Amino acid sequence: MTNNARLREESNKYAPGGVHSATRNVEPFHVFTKGEGAYIYDADGNKFIDYQAAFGPYILGHNYPYVNNKVIQALSTTDMFGVGTTDLEIEASRKIVTHVPSAEQVLFCNSGSEATYHAIRLSRGITGRSKLIKFQGCYHGWHDYVARNMLSAWDKIGTRDPGSAGMLDEAIDNTLVCTYNDLDDVERTFNENKGEIAAIILEPIPHNIGIIMPQPGFLEGLRELCTANGALLIFDEVITGFRHDIGGYQKVAGVTPDLTTMGKAMANGFPIAAVAGKKEYMQRFNTQPGGDVWFAGTYNGHAVGTAACIATLEMMENEPVHEHIFRLGERMRSEIRGIVDRLGIKAYVAGFGSTWTTYFMDFEPKNYTDLQHNDAEFYVTYRKKMIEKGIYKMPMNLKRNHLSYSHTDKEVDITLEAIESVLKEMTGK
Ligand code: PMP
Repeated sequence: MTNNARLREESNKYAPGGVHSATRNVEPFHVFTKGEGAYIYDADGNKFIDYQAAFGPYILGHNYPYVNNKVIQALSTTDMFGVGTTDLEIEASRKIVTHVPSAEQVLFCNSGSEATYHAIRLSRGITGRSKLIKFQGCYHGWHDYVARNMLSAWDKIGTRDPGSAGMLDEAIDNTLVCTYNDLDDVERTFNENKGEIAAIILEPIPHNIGIIMPQPGFLEGLRELCTANGALLIFDEVITGFRHDIGGYQKVAGVTPDLTTMGKAMANGFPIAAVAGKKEYMQRFNTQPGGDVWFAGTYNGHAVGTAACIATLEMMENEPVHEHIFRLGERMRSEIRGIVDRLGIKAYVAGFGSTWTTYFMDFEPKNYTDLQHNDAEFYVTYRKKMIEKGIYKMPMNLKRNHLSYSHTDKEVDITLEAIESVLKEMTGK
């Protein structure tokens, strides 16, 4: 029995399914023991080039020394105090407010789900309205406000599709679902729910279904519709934030939301997230005397997360992090396009910056419904064969790959060679 299999059995005894988050129980199953730079290692000594990046946080690479050292240094003096603030919270906040256009003020929490929960509750507190618009296929966390119509089965698109048993009916029914890149659909939804919609929440690039690019005018149109209807625009930049620009995708797009949620790449793998936005809105949180929207958390602003955030943003300020990962991303996408063209494979290579996704379909998908044309079975075999070649990709169909500052042209060369060889084998060409 392999170590992976033995430890999996052991884990199954103690945790349901042997894993501690949905979507981790995937085949082939690995017990990971080490991460370093662009590589991860399992309990049987297998080594992989990692593009999963733990679902996105690793923008500098695993166990990045500059970040780890700052965390260790911070822990030798600061841990948690429970009242007041720390120099780490102040410095991390200052950096976010400096770089992210919509962030006039910021508050820290521990996960992306907490951040989206707080942003939505704040939008309801401000507007006195209950309803929320989200888009089919976008993911914003596990809580009742947003856990509906995520990666729905194809026959559930356009229907009421709760993501979990145990959700409150009222929460599900107050979340309206629109089609991404379809402004008419959003406008119609506003008109049918006049004066009732508190906010729109969206991933400005829906990375939870790969890389669907907002079509020209879509984000601008949402901005206008929100302003015209007195609703707040919330960009969930938990994946896009800091990965696509130190100012988030809002900086790239030139569209400023009212509220922004952040996480993942903001601290290169350490647990911290944030909600940020216009000062007049943020002042409604009860962290401000007289504030009436409840915001609290024992571990909020912990030294580990804030120190890691400061170090990660310092790296982006002082080194050509984005230049490097964008160049590798461009190279990866254009060479994969060359490979699929040469082999005559029906594929659309999507991407932005450090990310890419190969959809096995012959046109650019603009929304979740379009992804029905993607050959999921082909992807699953492709991924399995890539893992056998030492290239670790996202465990689910329709997800994206991430490059980090630790990846170099050498890893890209190895990956491209593996892609070509696997696709040749699969197509018999
Ligand atoms: N928003 C987005 C866009 C996400 O991708 C995720 C996590 N994948 C979340 C929110 C939730 O974050 P967390 O898992 O840290 O709660």
